[in-house]
Amino acid sequence: MSIDAFLAHLARRDWLTQGPLSSLTASYVEALQIYHYRGSTIRAYLRCLAHFSYWMKGEGLTPSSIDRELIEHFMRNHLPICTCPPPRRSVVGEMRAALHHLLPLLPAADGAPAEMDPVEAELDRFGDYLRHTCGLALLTCSYRVRHVAAFLTGRFGRGTPEIELLAATDIDDFLNGLAVRWQPASR
Ligand SMILES: [Zn+2]
Repeated sequence: MSIDAFLAHLARRDWLTQGPLSSLTASYVEALQIYHYRGSTIRAYLRCLAHFSYWMKGEGLTPSSIDRELIEHFMRNHLPICTCPPPRRSVVGEMRAALHHLLPLLPAADGAPAEMDPVEAELDRFGDYLRHTCGLALLTCSYRVRHVAAFLTGRFGRGTPEIELLAATDIDDFLNGLAVRWQPASR
């Protein structure tokens, strides 16, 4: 189902489309679909997200303000005294789950330190290549970058990765190390 189809079901879609989360909504739905969430769950989470977006707008917040602390602040300090106009979704457990799905989608560049270390710079370029040249979904990129991060750090530490020094045996060693550590249910 497309993002437009999901939004069509949402009574408060303007809270998303005209709010601070408008640029993240499509990626949000895409991420939940990658995880095979049911349409009914995605619609419920979007109602939660719309409520959070409405509150953020009232507080003058932008996506760069979002972190676990802000989500907890909203849950603990806003929901108990919420007077936002109905219909609004405020189921606590569902709200927390819905909002935590936002965290992996936040633009890393906003919070990135001014000076990246060499491994981070390499990973940044790799992530950019996956996203914009290969056209992969955000979550897929994030998994791949995480694995490559573990590989590069294991081989080069925090020093500059010298890609030309890498050999097939380095990859074999890394995969063998993973195979030893991972349980059958790991991903
Ligand atoms: Zn509210």
